[in-house]
Amino acid sequence: MVVRDTDVIVVGAGAAGLSLVYRLCTPPPGRPVPEVTLVDAPAGPLRPPERTWCFWEASPGDFDGALSASWESLRVRGRDGTASVGRPAPFRYKMLRSGAFEELLAGRLAGPGAPRRVTARIDAVHDTASGAEVTGVAADGSALTLRGRWVFDSRPPRVLPPARTTLLQHFRGWFVRTERPVFDPRTADLMDFRTPRPPHGLSFGYVLPTSTHEALVEYTEFSREVLDDAGYDRALRHYTEHVLGLGPFEVTATERGVIPMTDGRFPRRAGRSVFRIGTAGGATRPSTGYTFAAAQRQARAVAAAYHAGRVRGPGRWTRSCCAGWTAGESTGPRSSRGCSVGYRCRACSVSWTATPARTRTSRSACARRSVRCCAPSPNCRGCRDGGRPTDESDHTEERRLSDDAPP
Ligand SMILES: Cc1cc2nc3c(=O)[nH]c(=O)nc-3n(C[C@H](O)[C@H](O)[C@H](O)COP(=O)(O)OP(=O)(O)OC[C@H]3O[C@@H](n4cnc5c(N)ncnc54)[C@H](O)[C@@H]3O)c2cc1C
Repeated sequence: MVVRDTDVIVVGAGAAGLSLVYRLCTPPPGRPVPEVTLVDAPAGPLRPPERTWCFWEASPGDFDGALSASWESLRVRGRDGTASVGRPAPFRYKMLRSGAFEELLAGRLAGPGAPRRVTARIDAVHDTASGAEVTGVAADGSALTLRGRWVFDSRPPRVLPPARTTLLQHFRGWFVRTERPVFDPRTADLMDFRTPRPPHGLSFGYVLPTSTHEALVEYTEFSREVLDDAGYDRALRHYTEHVLGLGPFEVTATERGVIPMTDGRFPRRAGRSVFRIGTAGGATRPSTGYTFAAAQRQARAVAAAYHAGRVRGPGRWTRSCCAGWTAGESTGPRSSRGCSVGYRCRACSVSWTATPARTRTSRSACARRSVRCCAPSPNCRGCRDGGRPTDESDHTEERRLSDDAPP
């Protein structure tokens, strides 16, 4: 058994884990680089294949050097083919392949202060008296134990949280190379609804051209059940041949994915010293499945707090009050005192005036929040009896939320 101690352990080297390690290991001038251990699963079923991440960002962006393409113009097509084109300037829609992202960050993180990388399957993460412990099986089959002051865990959740709505965004894409110049590389098709409507949910095509002859063409559904391989291939063949009319083309690579779209709440804090990040920490936007940009905000927020001598997980508080709380994420424990507008609970969208934190666990505060906001939510402990909190002991969840709130 290997036991190692470190300041921070990050579990999972996907979008969220890598981004957090990058931010932690590049502190502002004058701040020390923490000792970071990044653990990722060995090649196999737990480690995802290469993926394409797209996100909106103004240029220049931090990862521009690794982009496969970017677009200034975005199109949505209705079922009858009518096109609406938008130019989200100063933002561009950027396409980043996960392999290029990993290479870029590996280059930036080489040298002194580089994170220690460990390949292992992590089975458990739990608090200890002085931090947290991560246990699993190393690549050579031996048992592994790592101890850290803080652990950030991005392993995907095994089960989705209870929710009012749970859909899957599931898709398959073909990287195509056509014989004829059929694509306009200046415009990406975000949603093309000229695909046949599935029995439940909705479907659309997604086209990201990287040249006049090359594009990633995807068939996407928002529905409850994924398709089998033949189903996606049939849909893609129909879309590329009959809707887009690409003519002869070859498929140079494929990509597929399933992204949960749910209003269930992903607890960000899994222990005194354990936080969840990325999809596991609620970074996936329920209405669209986009995650990459939110994972960047999480990473910056957590690292900024760490470098400032505080550690906090990704917050739940949006910017209805204090400049500093960016959309959906906290950027650090800015004080909400003196804020005349109040703050807003991301989970329930109720705005609060600047109630001092210590009073928010009172029965009246909890009752107000529960009854007014979360009434039908199975996730709100205070609401399980139909929207009305029963007694103080039902408000554990509210207290935990308060712990996350600005001081
Ligand atoms: C094909 C695809 C395309 C997508 N496209 C977009 C997009 O265009 N824009 C967007 O914003 N979002 C997109 N998403 C959604 C989201 O951005 C990605 O899923 C993103 O990778 C989530 O980041 P993450 O770090 O939370 O999880 P992941 O990137 O999945 O990382 C999880 C990491 O945990 C590791 N791991 C898992 N289990 C263990 C274990 N037991 N022990 C050790 N390590 C473990 C894995 O190896 C992996 O490295 C896409 C998703 C998919 C699947």
